[in-house]
Amino acid sequence: MDFSFSPEEQELIKEVRSFLQKEMTPALSEECEQLGHIYGGKEGRKFIQKFASHGWLTPNWPAEYGGLGTSATVAFAIREEMAYVGTPLVFVAAHMAGPTIMHFGSQELKDKWLLPIARGEVEFCLGYTEPQAGSDLAALAIRAVDKGDYFLLNGQKTFNTHAHVADYHWLGTITDPDAKKYRGMSLMIVDLKSPGIDIRPMVTMAGWQTNEVFYDDVMVPKENLVGDLNAGFFYVMHALDYERMFPLATYGSLIDEVAEYARTATVDGEPLAKNPIVRQKLAQMKVELAANRHLYYRLAHMLDSGQVPNYQASMQKLFATEVAQRIANTAMEALGMFGQLTKDSKWAVLAGKAERFYRTCVVETIYAGTSEVQRGIIALRGLELPRK
Ligand SMILES: Cc1cc2nc3c(=O)[nH]c(=O)nc-3n(C[C@H](O)[C@H](O)[C@H](O)COP(=O)(O)OP(=O)(O)OC[C@H]3O[C@@H](n4cnc5c(N)ncnc54)[C@H](O)[C@@H]3O)c2cc1C
Repeated sequence: MDFSFSPEEQELIKEVRSFLQKEMTPALSEECEQLGHIYGGKEGRKFIQKFASHGWLTPNWPAEYGGLGTSATVAFAIREEMAYVGTPLVFVAAHMAGPTIMHFGSQELKDKWLLPIARGEVEFCLGYTEPQAGSDLAALAIRAVDKGDYFLLNGQKTFNTHAHVADYHWLGTITDPDAKKYRGMSLMIVDLKSPGIDIRPMVTMAGWQTNEVFYDDVMVPKENLVGDLNAGFFYVMHALDYERMFPLATYGSLIDEVAEYARTATVDGEPLAKNPIVRQKLAQMKVELAANRHLYYRLAHMLDSGQVPNYQASMQKLFATEVAQRIANTAMEALGMFGQLTKDSKWAVLAGKAERFYRTCVVETIYAGTSEVQRGIIALRGLELPRK
């Protein structure tokens, strides 16, 4: 594994960093907080379309599809820069659907979607989970019936984050109810403005919105099918591998800010930075962040070697999201009662970031597959233990 960047790559990353420092506005920060750093809001679109015009949203894609042809390692470094300053960070179209279309989509599908995705002009939201199908995605019930030129869809999704601000649904649906488990699902791209779609909010404890999405006789053109009919389960698993690649720098920035705060704050007349427990805990987080970076860049290295990480992505997702929770806990402990204050309080420290991250980190170990599900994948594929 080569950890060094070439002078040109270093220059590119520096250019991205200075763009981010210059272009991050308070309005964008505010929107990112409200949307949980998921792409789709008005400010985010303005910002990302400018960012993407340099090819930076999908830098490792080929130039014909709007990228710069860099390594995945450079793309991962750019995502880390974005995470550190708190831009929109979760891109369903650019980071999950796009690579899946690139691997399995027809030429028509690639020509239609990849450039608009790379330019940040369209955003998708994930349409996997249903009330009876979360960890077990093969238990989907939403039905797509072949009507000749189009599919007719009926059913319900739940926990579909950002359906209210995205343009298209990246939808897993049953196309052959009689097929064996895993064999009757297809993947489709659905315009969320299609007649018959009803989106209802579910607000999380972090303050951002996920949704129920109801399909009532929704017509989806056949050309919106991704890859082969009834092969959707396989494509969804592939897209999930891409979803499970987490830059943790957003949480890393919290640790840096707590350390900075500790340098000047005093508790009972003593400098916080001299408190042995605070020092021990912050140091532990520094180690875990570094360990996570190794897991994260290993995924980039695998992509650069032509492999799609599978259980390795689960390892990083599992570790990163559990570290995120330990970071939020550590920040709360270090900041004491001040850490619990929201940013509206005049006594808030770090603009209420610890309190916000504490609420946000809970879901990290649930979406994209729970920690138990990741451990199951690692046991099965990483350790080659028998299926349960
Ligand atoms: C805030 C939020 C946002 C989300 N956003 C999206 C989204 O945008 N799109 C989308 O499609 N979904 C989304 N999800 C859904 C998420 O992916 C599921 O909640 C998750 O996969 C777990 O499914 P479940 O909630 O049905 O729990 P269940 O699958 O019912 O699991 C319940 C418990 O059982 C455990 N468990 C289940 N199966 C196993 C097993 N085989 N081995 C060991 N333990 C197991 C789980 O770990 C969990 O602790 C979101 C969820 C939340 C909470």
